[in-house]
Amino acid sequence: MLHSGRGCVKFGAAMEKTLFQKIADKEIPAAMVYEDSLCVAFRDITPVAPVHVLLVPRKPIPSIEAAAAEDAELLAHLMLKVGEIARAEGLAEGGFRTVMNTGADAGQTVPHLHIHIIGGRSMQWPPG
Ligand code: 5GP
Repeated sequence: MLHSGRGCVKFGAAMEKTLFQKIADKEIPAAMVYEDSLCVAFRDITPVAPVHVLLVPRKPIPSIEAAAAEDAELLAHLMLKVGEIARAEGLAEGGFRTVMNTGADAGQTVPHLHIHIIGGRSMQWPPG
């Protein structure tokens, strides 16, 4: 195991994919709405609104807190894809919410950076 910064990276046969890597690699089925060489977007299995898409980089960054300077271009790519996907999902006019849960207090359940794109109904603020 190689210790690199805040994360630990495993190599070789012992390397375990995250759930979202398995979805990106089509080892676990999901309703894909977008994919390119850097990221995938698919429908959340437990949607909290009429539209609930998860936008996920193929690179298994555990969370936004673990992102590094070398990820800057990838993060910019994801930000631009948010708008593109929201428009394709018909959310541009009514608006939508983006959420990145980070860590236990925020209720992050999958340790692979992902952006929730949620829309199709009105929402409350602050969130619970
Ligand atoms: P988090 O709670 O980490 O911010 O978000 C993880 C999201 O992944 C949850 O909204 C959950 O419903 C979704 N999710 C968990 N397992 C699966 C799965 O196997 N397929 C899909 N499409 N979504 C999943």
